[in-house]
Amino acid sequence: MRPSITISILSCLCFIIISIYFILYRSDNSITSPLSEKPDLVNFEGGVISAKMGNATQKAELGRSTWKLLHTMTAQYPEHPTTEERKALQQFFMLLSRLYPCGECAAHFQLLLKRYPPQTSSKIAASQWACAIHNKVNERLGKDIFDCSNIQEKYDCGCNTTEDENDSSSSSE
Ligand SMILES: Cc1cc2nc3c(=O)[nH]c(=O)nc-3n(C[C@H](O)[C@H](O)[C@H](O)COP(=O)(O)OP(=O)(O)OC[C@H]3O[C@@H](n4cnc5c(N)ncnc54)[C@H](O)[C@@H]3O)c2cc1C
Repeated sequence: MRPSITISILSCLCFIIISIYFILYRSDNSITSPLSEKPDLVNFEGGVISAKMGNATQKAELGRSTWKLLHTMTAQYPEHPTTEERKALQQFFMLLSRLYPCGECAAHFQLLLKRYPPQTSSKIAASQWACAIHNKVNERLGKDIFDCSNIQEKYDCGCNTTEDENDSSSSSE
């Protein structure tokens, strides 16, 4: 076989291998593995600030409201966020894990975030990550595991009915 043909075949093979690796890596970070252990953009350190929350009823009410906020927020997150928007979401979760008003919950949440950093590359990645991290808390508390496949529909607030969701310039408030 002529050397030029061999080089062409080897180049094609390299291209195919790199493409397959890239496709697998991308999907691993988004849909199929929402709880990736790969570090994301920001490494945000700092201990828990809040004290222990003794009252179980208050703890549960706070939890329900907070989960509602987090899932609705990730359902509203852009499909294609900028680097700055990705950092904002990641910092939000890191700060929440310090300031969450139930200190013992925050401490456990910090461990979860260290192990499974927030996934911020897209709306789907962020929503699936939030659902999966909620399931980690559910698991620890002996609650049922939630089916994450319809998470977008469940937390759709109906906010993006007419305007481009990323068009902040058209919003006056
Ligand atoms: C960050 C964080 C950490 C917490 N850590 C602790 C802790 O360490 N100890 C403790 O006692 N409590 C903790 N809580 C509170 C706890 O998770 C619950 O919110 C609380 O026990 C009330 O539970 P619930 O059964 O009413 O449903 P919740 O878990 O509050 O869920 C509310 C609703 O969300 C839906 N849902 C359930 N699972 C999912 C999911 N995976 N994805 C999307 N939607 C879902 C269901 O419709 C459910 O009824 C924490 C809450 C938060 C936000």
